[in-house]
Amino acid sequence: MEIINQIKEIQQISYNFKSQGKKIIVVPTMGYLHKGHISLIIKAKEIADIVICTLFVNPKQFGPNEDFERYPRDEARDISLLEEIGCDYLFLPSAEEMYPTDFDTSISLGGITKILEGTTRPTHYDGVALVVLKLFNITLADYAILGQKDYQQFMVISKLVDDLNLNIKLIMAPIVREENGLAMSSRNRYLSEEEFNQASVINKSLQEVSKIIQSGELFRNNINKYVSEILKSSPLLKIDYVETILDKTFELKEQFKRGNKIVVLIACWVGKTRLIDNIIIDIE
Ligand code: AMP
Repeated sequence: MEIINQIKEIQQISYNFKSQGKKIIVVPTMGYLHKGHISLIIKAKEIADIVICTLFVNPKQFGPNEDFERYPRDEARDISLLEEIGCDYLFLPSAEEMYPTDFDTSISLGGITKILEGTTRPTHYDGVALVVLKLFNITLADYAILGQKDYQQFMVISKLVDDLNLNIKLIMAPIVREENGLAMSSRNRYLSEEEFNQASVINKSLQEVSKIIQSGELFRNNINKYVSEILKSSPLLKIDYVETILDKTFELKEQFKRGNKIVVLIACWVGKTRLIDNIIIDIE
């Protein structure tokens, strides 16, 4: 694997591959890689000729009181994991390379960026959109693969691609979980053993609610309440939101219908760590 730090250099490499008719896929990450990230790289290798993983802890997507400074970092370990899996290129820019001192541009998004994650993290998606748009332009990728774990993020980027007519196809990859069901996340390393154990209730609540939905519970409030009650059984856990939406439009229906595809989304605090998870349900 080649490691590239300069924008101009990776852009030139991508340009050369594209002139040979090769397809490029980008896998954006903030590093501290786990099996979820690795699953994206494995899938990426099946889709395109050249896989570019990007590793950049993007300061612009963190709010002032968030964990930018203490976000876990281990470049050496990330590099060896990527080597092992056979990633072609790692784009590893500095903050100065991405945002030089005269950087002036921001992006302001509307729509679904104002709800759920956007309520707690009001500037988050503007920062995500900015970095993702830069990474798409830098890598000239034909495809990008993103995780379902960040479902709202996927839909926000999808809207960005549509609204700005970006020539890139997005692919959603399933959530990879720990043995106790907790969605893998770089932030899981903040959890104490007790917190890690109690956090398994998040996935448990999603699995349980999926059963009652398939057995005919279609009222949104009841669905949300059911999940919240299960989450409340873990004393270390504090709910930020539990919400059920129609997929893609994020419509908050009072009652869903058979045949609807819905998503139950959870954000909660486990001690000082904020975790998110979700499940997509095709109502039979
Ligand atoms: P991050 O490094 O947290 O910004 O994540 C980079 C990419 O990996 C995003 O597209 C995430 O949705 C995806 N991802 C994070 N956690 C998981 C997981 N447990 N399973 C699958 N994909 C994941």
